[in-house]
Amino acid sequence: MAAPQSDHDKRKQISIRGIAPVENVANVKKTFNRHLHYTLVKDRNVATPRDYYYALAHTVRDHLTGRWIRTQQHYYDKDPKRVYYLSLEFYMGRTLSNTMVNLGIQSSCDEAMYQLGLDIEELEEIEEDAGLGNGGLGRLAACFLDSMATLGLAAYGYGIRYDYGIFQQKIENGWQVEEPDDWLRYGNPWEKARPEYVLPVNFYGRVEEKDGKSKWVDTQVVFAMPYDSPIPGYGNNTVNTMRLWSAKAPNSFNLRFFNSGEYINAVCDRNQAENISRVLYPNDNFFEGKELRLRQEYFLVAATLQDIIRRFKSSRFGSRDPVRTSFDNFPDKVAIQLNDTHPALAIPELMRVFVDVEGIPWAKAWDLCVRACAYTNHTVLPEALERWPVHLLEKLLPRHLQIMFYINYLFLEEVKKKFPGDHARLGRMSIVEEHGEKKINMAHLAIIGSHAINGVAAIHSEIIRQNTFKDFAEMYPERFQNKTNGITPRRWLLLCNPGLADVIAEKIGEEWVTNLYALKQLKQYENDENFLRSIMKVKTENKMKLASYIKEQFNIEVNTSSMFDMQVKRIHEYKRQLLNVLHMIVLYNRIKKNPNAPFVPRTIMIGGKAAPGYHMAKLIIKLVTSVGNIVNNDPIIGDKLKIVYLENYRVSLAEKIIPAADLSEQISTAGTEASGTGNMKFQLNGALTIGTLDGANVEMQEEMGPENIFIFGMTVEEVEALKVKGYVSKDYYDTNPEIRLVLDQINQGYFNPDEPALFHDIYNSLLYHDRFMLLADFDAYIKCQDRVSKTFKDNMLWAKMCLHNIASSGKFSSDRTIAEYAREIWGCEPNPESKLPAPHENPLDE
Ligand SMILES: *Cc1c(COP(=O)(O)O)cnc(C)c1O
Repeated sequence: MAAPQSDHDKRKQISIRGIAPVENVANVKKTFNRHLHYTLVKDRNVATPRDYYYALAHTVRDHLTGRWIRTQQHYYDKDPKRVYYLSLEFYMGRTLSNTMVNLGIQSSCDEAMYQLGLDIEELEEIEEDAGLGNGGLGRLAACFLDSMATLGLAAYGYGIRYDYGIFQQKIENGWQVEEPDDWLRYGNPWEKARPEYVLPVNFYGRVEEKDGKSKWVDTQVVFAMPYDSPIPGYGNNTVNTMRLWSAKAPNSFNLRFFNSGEYINAVCDRNQAENISRVLYPNDNFFEGKELRLRQEYFLVAATLQDIIRRFKSSRFGSRDPVRTSFDNFPDKVAIQLNDTHPALAIPELMRVFVDVEGIPWAKAWDLCVRACAYTNHTVLPEALERWPVHLLEKLLPRHLQIMFYINYLFLEEVKKKFPGDHARLGRMSIVEEHGEKKINMAHLAIIGSHAINGVAAIHSEIIRQNTFKDFAEMYPERFQNKTNGITPRRWLLLCNPGLADVIAEKIGEEWVTNLYALKQLKQYENDENFLRSIMKVKTENKMKLASYIKEQFNIEVNTSSMFDMQVKRIHEYKRQLLNVLHMIVLYNRIKKNPNAPFVPRTIMIGGKAAPGYHMAKLIIKLVTSVGNIVNNDPIIGDKLKIVYLENYRVSLAEKIIPAADLSEQISTAGTEASGTGNMKFQLNGALTIGTLDGANVEMQEEMGPENIFIFGMTVEEVEALKVKGYVSKDYYDTNPEIRLVLDQINQGYFNPDEPALFHDIYNSLLYHDRFMLLADFDAYIKCQDRVSKTFKDNMLWAKMCLHNIASSGKFSSDRTIAEYAREIWGCEPNPESKLPAPHENPLDE
């Protein structure tokens, strides 16, 4: 682990993290030793590296505690509008280094560990990722929490504390194998359980009608136990809360067994209730209509809304009025953001509480609900849209089903008024889908119950307006908005790429950390060869560090002067990892055909998890590793071309590899990737992008200019036109000899001689059901890659383009995204300048 950047002296000179004051270092050492002794109950003779990690984690946590308590007290006193971000996923990754960065104590901790003879980077590696997410949607929620705290918003993340996060991916014999992610095995030092605040959540039962009132009765109850984690803002002494719910069986659970003497069975059965928060569903952009998942969604929503309403009632304003019955200003005090439709049951649940429990008349309750709720759409892929069978809802949530039917009835009456006689429109807009098995369309519900609906990039927001939800945009044009996604510059530059952060800070200072647009000042150095060289020097150091990781992990020697060409994201047909594979094979064939011709060397890396039930995605992984086996072991290829499968791609791996990328692959079929955020991480870290005009790539091109990005392939309009015309992928195979050669090699087992028929499904899908039009974009992609290679040969031109990429990434800060949500959806003002007073570091002094 003696890689260039882990050098202590190197880290010490990183000016942006400040100079560690002697007394802070002494303090950290003292606290660390105290935790090792009293919390871990170890001395230095028997302590393991993990003990040291926990002692450091507790030391750092101590610095959060006072700020956390005071922030929450401040919110209670000032009673600002609260923002609630509801998400089934929070893909947080590691917390230790992020906390040190945001509190500004990294250099003190670094120095303290050094003086104790410990390697802080080694300790950081011991921390398990909090992998409570699948990919972009979950990571977005995590970046948003960081930005909301940094902007001083009174915000809360609400989610589920899964015992098992996204599975650990192993590659065995070239295939993906899943292992459970037992991330809590050694305990989570960042969370605080709050058993005193458990809340009941009801399921099943029936609806009782009595004097015109409905009551949900005979239910089975499960408790929701909150676990709170601190979310520190950057340098502003604000610490917000992420509250995750864990399912707990009540002591009364299965009492009837007790009565029949079945004590052991009754206790064992408690697992049934507690299984609700057992495991994250590992699907990205895919709806699987499983009852357990529906239970998870309602569990989150029911517990969270009780908490929101309790906090609303107990606010300073409310407590002056001890029997507060008025919810009139609920939407002025509460904003509820739905991260996709996964928590959309919040709408009927809020209506149930308002009407059945609080006794508010329907029309009034509906107005409050719509003004409080807002919905973010994350995909237009039809297989990803949630449509829950009515029979499942009827069994699990009978009262909510009634409420959704009534919402639908009133809504369709409204549609009839606005579009008289348009029966087809009624059918299209109904929440209830009647053809085949009756289903509830959750996106329709979310739109009808929200005052704001947003897509996550300009092109995506246009598509949902004009296609996916056209009827709804005609009904409620003022509700539809765009909020282009972003990433937090703290984790995705300052933390993961300290070398680059330092080189930037030397030139333009640190303003960019909280105002990413400040990076545009770098443009004045585009002809400063020394500066360009210093940027490329950092890149080279990052590449060397990654190369030693790849040697260590996979025993592959990579050429660090080759182009590091990366595609890391969930494996999905629409993301077109297969197109990347076709390019690999083209390069391989060229070298084989003409071994002495000049060639721009590449190391092509692909990483990402496939959903365990997604046959084609798993087969694509096997194809990548099979091609890699042939390419990497062919002496004629040498170090001109290497293929690396980056096993177990996750947040902490992204932080390691993205700073080392030269080329970022963002090659989805136009119109399928809602935004992408991986694209932004690469841009910020000085990689160039090859991509289609899809998602946020479109806006990246606008920001940096077309001369600084490699755009290829069909536009959304061209994709649509080709579909209308009738797309026949086999025509491309028949007329393009390069395509034919590559596809025949795949089909005939060239890359898998032991089992030559293995990739028939891939061949067939490309030739006969090429849903994502790979063959239509193939030619443009290969030609564009040739332009990339040609550009890479010109070091200074490449460096200049990298600089332009970094300097143009200001728009893609999640701070900008959150400021827009705050002003245009939540009705609150971000406070980037405001700073809470710092507490005394030692709570005993307070
Ligand atoms: C950013 C991120 C993603 C999203 O990547 P896309 O290329 O936008 O799909 C997925 N997984 C991890 C671990 C990430 O950090």
